[in-house]
Amino acid sequence: MKLLVVEDEIQLADALSEILKRNMYSVDTAYDGISGLDNALTGVYDCILLDIMLPGMDGMEVLRRLRSEKVSTPVLLLTARSEVDDKINGLDCGADDYLTKPFVTGELLARVRALTRRKGEIIDENRVEFNGLELHKNTCSISYGGSDVKLSLKEYQIMELLIANPHQILPKERIIEKIWGYESDIEYNNIEVYISFLRKKISVISAPVQIKTARGIGYSLE
Ligand code: CA
Repeated sequence: MKLLVVEDEIQLADALSEILKRNMYSVDTAYDGISGLDNALTGVYDCILLDIMLPGMDGMEVLRRLRSEKVSTPVLLLTARSEVDDKINGLDCGADDYLTKPFVTGELLARVRALTRRKGEIIDENRVEFNGLELHKNTCSISYGGSDVKLSLKEYQIMELLIANPHQILPKERIIEKIWGYESDIEYNNIEVYISFLRKKISVISAPVQIKTARGIGYSLE
């Protein structure tokens, strides 16, 4: 899953990004409101962590503009201020949740998980399932029956995206946007390599799941 962190305290932004990456998220970071809004308007994120006090454009204004452009990505407001007014104001502007700084990692991750729950069957916070195949976040692996096999981080992220959108063709551009970022120079045949690794691993554990190719477009999980 892909997250955007908009936070002008560079150390905090980078620490957040590190924590989230260690928890298998792809993360982009913006250090001011204007570039944060630019990134957020692409609509590719599964959740945006948005500071309120930002240079350029404050978080509330970023949020207002996002919602007025019909971008409905969940937004978790990060606020140093604990005043009730800010929270109410933020929720009125279209935020989905807020977190008061300083916060503990566990709470941050729990809130991000709550905001990014998706269609794949979620068994618990560490596992999602599709047709008996389970994807494990804590061990970065897939399992079926009694067998399991490790995935690389990119394989994990692709599998997670497929499970979140089963029976739908995921265009290659969307996979790239979601996992590598829209400015990345990864090529389509790199994706093909990851998909072929994933197919081999799925067949190693004999899971009744197939990644089908939609020729010239992308892939779907069946
Ligand atoms: Ca700030």
